[in-house]
Amino acid sequence: MSHVCKALIIHCMDFRLIGQTASWMEREHLMRDADVVSLAGSSKSLVDGDEETKNVLLKQIDISHSLHDSCTVYLVHHSSCGAYAISNSFSSKEEEKKKQSEDLQKAVLVINERFPDLKVKKIWVDMKDSDGTEVEITEI
Ligand SMILES: [Zn+2]
Repeated sequence: MSHVCKALIIHCMDFRLIGQTASWMEREHLMRDADVVSLAGSSKSLVDGDEETKNVLLKQIDISHSLHDSCTVYLVHHSSCGAYAISNSFSSKEEEKKKQSEDLQKAVLVINERFPDLKVKKIWVDMKDSDGTEVEITEI
């Protein structure tokens, strides 16, 4: 019996998006085939200078990769993220998406520096309402 899965999903802990994240995983055939890490701001800690949380997240990636042989990491970020609102004041949704997109790109580099054989995908969840009922999920 092998304990192998194809992916690791790192997403924000935000309760509003848990159901939508699960539905997206089903559509992508990732349900029961991916490890999942749930952390405020998703991969934000890889690039925001919080070394303690960064190391926790890198450890989770290492475990998923070495123990379960996962080969793709999905970094799932979303609009109206409270973890980003704590340290930023955005004047628009576009400005928030730009900042998070830049962070996502930096996070890809951080992961690939440590784990060059991992494929990293950036996923953006655009919340169309405040409670996460309607979302648009795209790879960016
Ligand atoms: Zn969030």
